[in-house]
Amino acid sequence: MKRRDFLKLGGATAFAALFGGCDNLPKKLVPFVIPPENYTLGESLWYASVCRQCPAGCGIVVRVSEGRAKKIEGNPLHPVNSGKLCARGQAGLQALYHPERLGRPLKLSGPRGSGKFTETSWEDALSILMTGLKKIRAEAPGSLLMLAEPMRGHRNLVVHRFLRAFGAPAPVAWDPFGHDALLAANEDVFGIRDIPEYDIANARYLLSFSGDFLETWLSPVHYGRAYGRMRQERPTVRGKFVHFGPRLSMTAANADVFLPIAPGTEGFAALGIAHVMVREKLTPSPAASSLWTAGLRQMTPETVGEKTGLRPSDIEAVAREFAGNQPGLAIAGDGAAGCTNGTFHFSAAALLNVLAGNLGKPGGLSFPDRRSAFPRAGADASTLAPLPESGFASVRNTLEKMRGGAFQVALLSGETNPAFTLPAGLKFPESLLSVPLVVSFSSFLDETSSLSDLVLPVPTYLEEWGDDIAPAGHSGDAVGLLQPVIEPFRDARPMPDILIAAAKELGGPVAAALPWKNFRECLEQGYTGMGVNLENARREGGIFSRKGSLSRTAKRAGNPPLPKAIEASYEGDAARYPLVLHVYPSIALSDGRGANLSWLQEMPDPISTAVWRNWVEVHPKTAESLGIADGDGVVVTSPFGSMEAFAVLHPAVAKGTAAMPLGQGHTRYGRNAAGRGGNPFSLLPVKDTAGAKSHARQSTRVSIAKARIKGKLVRTVNVEGQWKYENIL
Ligand code: SF4
Repeated sequence: MKRRDFLKLGGATAFAALFGGCDNLPKKLVPFVIPPENYTLGESLWYASVCRQCPAGCGIVVRVSEGRAKKIEGNPLHPVNSGKLCARGQAGLQALYHPERLGRPLKLSGPRGSGKFTETSWEDALSILMTGLKKIRAEAPGSLLMLAEPMRGHRNLVVHRFLRAFGAPAPVAWDPFGHDALLAANEDVFGIRDIPEYDIANARYLLSFSGDFLETWLSPVHYGRAYGRMRQERPTVRGKFVHFGPRLSMTAANADVFLPIAPGTEGFAALGIAHVMVREKLTPSPAASSLWTAGLRQMTPETVGEKTGLRPSDIEAVAREFAGNQPGLAIAGDGAAGCTNGTFHFSAAALLNVLAGNLGKPGGLSFPDRRSAFPRAGADASTLAPLPESGFASVRNTLEKMRGGAFQVALLSGETNPAFTLPAGLKFPESLLSVPLVVSFSSFLDETSSLSDLVLPVPTYLEEWGDDIAPAGHSGDAVGLLQPVIEPFRDARPMPDILIAAAKELGGPVAAALPWKNFRECLEQGYTGMGVNLENARREGGIFSRKGSLSRTAKRAGNPPLPKAIEASYEGDAARYPLVLHVYPSIALSDGRGANLSWLQEMPDPISTAVWRNWVEVHPKTAESLGIADGDGVVVTSPFGSMEAFAVLHPAVAKGTAAMPLGQGHTRYGRNAAGRGGNPFSLLPVKDTAGAKSHARQSTRVSIAKARIKGKLVRTVNVEGQWKYENIL
């Protein structure tokens, strides 16, 4: 839907008809056989809400007719995605109507982890939960643990208040793709521990160091749209895009120039460019850049070329172009974040922005104040918009404590799946066995909820109230409001409502901390207390302020310290494990959360065009040395595990690298996710990114051996044939 159409429909008199009232929700899933008297067949209502298929927080509008949600589009009023939506956002309907969605509470009926459950009533399920909570409330309140995705908005507030009043520790959050390295680098370079807004739309030159911003990094719909504007929407300027990385991602494939580099060398490439800019006095302030002259002396194009595999002449050419085409931007992304030296890559990219004078300018980067939407929320403001960290270090500490018997009751949110996404060395399933009562809030049975004693079904995001503060992709306020677009048709209850009800039953300070009738009342009181007209906000899909109004000043914009150049390190002996493993989030399945949706399984990978299975990408020369042909079954082995996959040969993967998408390899996530090969997370070590305490995903070597495996790699038909293997060698 176009913005002007939305606004036309959303005019003063049409808004009520467009969205209907909150109490006017469709109540039937089955199409009407005999419709109500005043019902017009084919008439649609559009409800504004927020996509929760990934953490980007895009605004959506959902078309509902004949009692069904039928189509999801982007909300044109939401500043993050301005009316656009990605494939995962579109697939939200399949999550809503999924036949394997849980419709009743489940109680464990075999040993923990056996996956044997029987359905039970809500009364029975809640009585088990409350018995557990009451038992520890008096004697050991600190033995209650909540493990969840990084939560935002009032959902986070309810959980924090519940735990604090109970006497339990703060919730532990886990996101395999948190932004710890970016946050740590910005703290070092700019003095601000936050995510900036990159104004790609107005940049003349964009340098990316494994920043796959068109696929999964930060806010892909927002940056995809901005990229389109950078390239095509200015009458006389077509911005240039140069991408460095160890594989041809879809983002790399869209670049003017793709320069393959060895994994873990992104920061060196950036410092090589910085060296040339300083040496040739190509910066707006040569005096300031002289601060780094001594430190950069070693980073000559020749030295950097040896480390990265780049030609020195390419480094020089890019440096001159970048300096001569301002405003420009340098970004680093997910592929660099997971290296042991990930913070260095982000700091080096940030340094290029400082050298080019890109801070706080159109076409550069700025730091919006994500908490300014809550001027009157006081102490709660940071709870409503917390920093998007991964939580790896806290999870590791928590699991150690768990094994030591520190927790009696664990509450798990179904929006994160640590049993699938944590490295096996952390022993998540084994650790959970030491907790006497484990309760999951989940819509589906996955690897984590299957380890519980009790699974409480929760609605999907299209059936519940909520709010969401987008962590990136905007320069002003971007608070999205969720509302149910149809009446929940499974017997599910939202997690915040369960906690509010539990608080009432516990009484005392816990009840006092959560004084609302339900979560909807919590939201209403929260926003009206902040002076927001909630009815208008609900209709528009949130609270959005004008672009660019909230820029913060960097404390160290002029003279950041030169980032310390650190080499990436890898587990595994190079003789036994000759390839470096480069894992990346799947554009369709992300970390695996989309693997139960057939639309996403059927969405071809933009580069390999593979569907429904996992694969490993290797350079044809590397494959030749291993005796592997395109499409062969292989076993990939690291010092930590092994898994099956199919080989995909591609000349744009760095030699000596094995690149694998994450997301497949589920053992407990329903029929669409089952039997699709191994889980690349199982190959990864327990290792930190230096300075950021996030999981260093890109830190192991692997071997690959040809093997007979079941099935075959399926690729979609490509009528143009440009990805036919014979054509690209
Ligand atoms: S980027 Fe994320 S939030 Fe936005 S539409 Fe796609 S899945 Fe939804």
